[in-house]
Amino acid sequence: MSIEKLAARLSKISESQTLAMARKSRELQAQGKDVISLSIGEPDYDTPDFIKEAAKKAIDQNYTHYTPVAGFQDLRVAIADKFKRDNQITYTPEQIVVSTGAKQSIANVILSLVDEGDEVIVPIPYWVSYIELIKLADGIPVYIYAGVNQNFKISAEQLEAAITPKTRMIIFSTPCNPSGSVYNKQELEALVKVLEKYPNIYIVSDEIYEHINFVGKHESMAQFPSVYNNVITVNGVSKGFAMTGWRIGYIGAPLWIAKACEKMQGQFTSGTCSVAQRAALAAVAADPAVVKPMRDGFLKRRDMVLALLNDIPGIKTNVPDGAFYVFPDISAYFGKSDGTTTINNSADLCMYLLNSANLALVSGDAFGDDNCVRFSYATSEDKLIEAIKRLKNALLLLK
Ligand code: PMP
Ligand code: GLU
Repeated sequence: MSIEKLAARLSKISESQTLAMARKSRELQAQGKDVISLSIGEPDYDTPDFIKEAAKKAIDQNYTHYTPVAGFQDLRVAIADKFKRDNQITYTPEQIVVSTGAKQSIANVILSLVDEGDEVIVPIPYWVSYIELIKLADGIPVYIYAGVNQNFKISAEQLEAAITPKTRMIIFSTPCNPSGSVYNKQELEALVKVLEKYPNIYIVSDEIYEHINFVGKHESMAQFPSVYNNVITVNGVSKGFAMTGWRIGYIGAPLWIAKACEKMQGQFTSGTCSVAQRAALAAVAADPAVVKPMRDGFLKRRDMVLALLNDIPGIKTNVPDGAFYVFPDISAYFGKSDGTTTINNSADLCMYLLNSANLALVSGDAFGDDNCVRFSYATSEDKLIEAIKRLKNALLLLK
């Protein structure tokens, strides 16, 4: 008989709530339940044909061997070119590391830079995995709350107040998962003015939703020369090119950090999938205008979803300027009950919606804000209309 004892490390972290909700929905769907899942954040579009063709060609050309740990050289060159073309940032190919999804890119960076007891500033709402990865590195998350009333964006004053001698890093996404908020150049510059005073603080700028931006130009943290040497820019092809399953993310970073991430990755996964890298090369080398129709589709759905949500009493939303999420504040329903279930927090509300309305959302507490729920609108208009009808009916039963 074996004794089931896991390493203590595992008890420090929780399961990814986005993936957990997606799993629960799949299980219920397999049981024949008509569950609409707006839980996982992934485009419902298919990968564009020219990218699929590049992958098919790569197989025929026998791109079937181990790859360099940091990625194929021509892919790293193409990514460096992309950074210059789209973001006006200069990285040499040696400063680029390609990984198995931006999730691994972020894990590499955190595990390479954060030591036990180091503080990492994380604006709320944050993407779920940041916190768990910080905990895995024995770091301490330090939160800055930015609720719906400030469009889920932190101010320079809040940032300054959160910094201590132990601060090692700040990590945030723009466009933001889960709020859809986008920092404009002036807002980033205000944060830079604070951060440039602290050369020991590293800035992880997660820009994976770059191409899903409804307000014009994407602004990158590393464009500001005073912090360039402290910024790690995270990006990837999952969201912008509808390539979630291909698992390609990348960073541009100071050389010594890129080297550290390469070393880390060399022990975990080696270089990522050869065929997926050839596909990613076609994606990053393409004119970003090729994915504008997807972005336009998301914008149309955003407007529809906002109009429908704002028709439900007690729901408060911002206007998300990017990504494909809405993060409505639903706290007006706390303390209410349908006669059997009382809703005390966002997790209660999500379970209630799943069980009684066959609707899967992700509770806001997974992103640090228990007043909210996350709603991914990367699905068809028909499904969205039906989902919001279910949401409305279920909420109206709460008295
Ligand atoms: N950052 C953010 C903010 C995300 O939403 C995601 C989505 N999974 C990732 C990173 C990781 O992306 P991937 O691993 O699919 O490249
Ligand atoms: N980023 C997506 C989300 O937030 C994918 C899920 C995950 O990787 O955790 O839903």
